[in-house]
Amino acid sequence: MEPRLAGGRVLKLMVLAEVAARMDEAFMRAALVLAADAGRRGEVPVGAVVVLDGAVVGEGFNQPIGSHDPTAHAEIVALREAARRLRNYRLTRAELYVTIEPCQMCVGAMVHARIARVVYGAREPKAGAIESAMRAHEHPCLNHRMQALGGVLEAECRTAIQEFFRARRSEEDPVDC
Ligand SMILES: [Zn+2]
Repeated sequence: MEPRLAGGRVLKLMVLAEVAARMDEAFMRAALVLAADAGRRGEVPVGAVVVLDGAVVGEGFNQPIGSHDPTAHAEIVALREAARRLRNYRLTRAELYVTIEPCQMCVGAMVHARIARVVYGAREPKAGAIESAMRAHEHPCLNHRMQALGGVLEAECRTAIQEFFRARRSEEDPVDC
């Protein structure tokens, strides 16, 4: 192959990878805005968006306390909105962006929905079910394979959670007098 052409192809692939990375960051920023909504309501700040063909089709923020619903994690809320909007319980080809590594329940729901790819920001060391506590999406009994990518806007996503818990701890601290 002519080197000039090969070099051009490599450059094109690099440009496409850069565009894909920028899109991942843009959708993660949308999820971060939703996480802030959760935090303002006193819920642990986690946000999620479902994306299909480059467009957001579902949004969710964590709201188990306000909704009186133990399943109302950001991912579940976003999946439900996307499925209602698309009038389809299968979200084949869709991607889900979430600020924090999803738990086992949410990974299960994404597999049920046939989500093609999950992208998350910061790891959740205790309950994260992609790389931390377990790798639920790779369980051999599953008949659907979901791609996973962590670490997108990791610092911003981790800071959002840490600041929420820091503020809550300082509210709980006894006042010196
Ligand atoms: Zn969850």
